[in-house]
Amino acid sequence: MENFDLHNHSHASDGLLSPGNLVRLAVRNRCDALALTDHDTIDGIEEATATAQTEGLRFIAGVEISVSWAANENTRTKTIHVVGLGIDTQSTTLLTGLETVSNGRLQRAKAISEDFSRLGIQGLFEEAYALAQNKTMISRTHFARALVQRGHVPNINKAFERYLTEGKPGYQPHRWAALDDAIRWIRAAGGVAVLAHPGRYALDHATMDQLLSEFKSHGGEAIEVVTGSHNPREYREYATWAEKFGFLASRGADYHGDASNQWEPGTLPPLPTSLTPVWTALK
Ligand code: AMP
Ligand code: MN
Ligand code: MN
Ligand code: MN
Repeated sequence: MENFDLHNHSHASDGLLSPGNLVRLAVRNRCDALALTDHDTIDGIEEATATAQTEGLRFIAGVEISVSWAANENTRTKTIHVVGLGIDTQSTTLLTGLETVSNGRLQRAKAISEDFSRLGIQGLFEEAYALAQNKTMISRTHFARALVQRGHVPNINKAFERYLTEGKPGYQPHRWAALDDAIRWIRAAGGVAVLAHPGRYALDHATMDQLLSEFKSHGGEAIEVVTGSHNPREYREYATWAEKFGFLASRGADYHGDASNQWEPGTLPPLPTSLTPVWTALK
């Protein structure tokens, strides 16, 4: 199998490496192609494209869009991530859409910080803001790093576990894009819509079936099977879902440059050979 890694972050969102250094890491790790898929922004694509050209690496422009999805009006809304691969970064439909999604991140960050003030942890907004390279893209990851830096938690995963996930005292609900809109923006930009790390959403079988049906009916074409967010049992589970729905399969580390995830670009196991890789659909 060709070593394609199609899900990675740079400091244009919540990764630690610059887009150029991410590309150089992928080259060192012998990737045949790399996608940069920052959260709700394409700000890193230009630099990554230029470095990939210099380094002779095939580069795929991508984005990871935050979506709020509920199975019906009576169930709680979940945050779902949809990756767009092979996007035209000049598409006004996509750019306008991404702007509506990222608007509100700054306000959410201030609300998160107020929650922490009530817990006796002051000034966390300023610290998280200072850690964000792209000031409009401040994320929970930056709060997690600030909490580690202050010694409130030993590592990033603990910061999420104790404070930053639903039901915990530093969690602020937020309204992201609608599923159909996110897929529409990606397709308008000529891209392929990929459901990111389905194993992370903790959905029961029937709800996963519904999510995948809706994703497909709106024009979604692929799901991540081998990702840094899945364990080997989940590789098999989502291979089965991909076969059931006729989805193409994607592979990506979801690399952020920190210890939250052990996988570097290009180091995950290959896709199961029974699946059709999503890169067959990328020009
Ligand atoms: P946001 O888009 O600001 O809500 O931040 C979401 C990001 O937080 C994800 O893309 C991950 O990088 C990170 N994240 C979410 N949950 C966890 C977790 N349990 N452990 C480590 N990182 C996480
Ligand atoms: Mn992230
Ligand atoms: Mn994600
Ligand atoms: Mn990601």
